[in-house]
Amino acid sequence: MSSGEASGYRGRFAPSPSGPLHDGSLLAAMASYLDARAQGGRWLLRIEDIDTPRCAAGADTLIMQQLQTLGMQWDEPPVWQSKRLPNYEAAFARLQAQGLIYGCACTRRMLSDGPYPGTCRHGLPPGRTARAWRLRVPQGTVHFVDRWQGPQSQDVAGEVGDFILHRADGMWAYQFVVVVDDGLQGITDIVRGNDLLDSTARQRVLAQLLGYEPPRVMHVPLLCDRTGRKLSKQNHAPALDVSHPLDTLQRAWRNLGFAAFPASTIQEFWARAVPLWAARHCPDRQ
Ligand SMILES: [Zn+2]
Repeated sequence: MSSGEASGYRGRFAPSPSGPLHDGSLLAAMASYLDARAQGGRWLLRIEDIDTPRCAAGADTLIMQQLQTLGMQWDEPPVWQSKRLPNYEAAFARLQAQGLIYGCACTRRMLSDGPYPGTCRHGLPPGRTARAWRLRVPQGTVHFVDRWQGPQSQDVAGEVGDFILHRADGMWAYQFVVVVDDGLQGITDIVRGNDLLDSTARQRVLAQLLGYEPPRVMHVPLLCDRTGRKLSKQNHAPALDVSHPLDTLQRAWRNLGFAAFPASTIQEFWARAVPLWAARHCPDRQ
């Protein structure tokens, strides 16, 4: 189906099943799919259903149906984060064994919006028990080049502080599980919406501590509604209508900054779109 083994490229689309795809999440799906196909890679689907209260029953099935209707077929069986809990426990234990984890007793009320001040870094205050577990973030600035946004840097210890891996509500933090999954699935390239650009430095710190090669990254501009807010399920973006798949694909394609082109089938759409993406975004492959 693809020459993924030859190129070694492994990309993924990782939606949270809080509802069906909308115009915004389709953009991330399309960009990651185009990039994987343009680089002769494999494209994986991971359902990020770890945050169970936000998951909607049946949304994962709907998302898969929408992707297939649009001609985006994944190359390996999808995985569900909720079925991978032992992986997260094992990775957490590895960090703990290196002395990189500590318990935090702070409540939200005790903390300001700024970086975590390290209140519990050297032990819990007397009589308090740990509510959450934090990573002891090493000093130093993280540098990386985003394929869309250009050079980036963040002093994670100074600007974010020791961040949470295991939350007070008993759930794993997004930052942690995404790095464990990308590492275990051998993901080489992440293409996603630029709302996650700010998470990337934290994820690279974690990847390095867990011994994973940090993936290359590309953060595509997000769609906003008329008031400038990101289109998201939280903001009640309407579900994607895939009753006219070609129109839907062409709209997403234009939202990625390309000019529409004639195509009479979805197969023809992809056959023409992939080389156009490659020409613009994969100069090393030309
Ligand atoms: Zn604390």
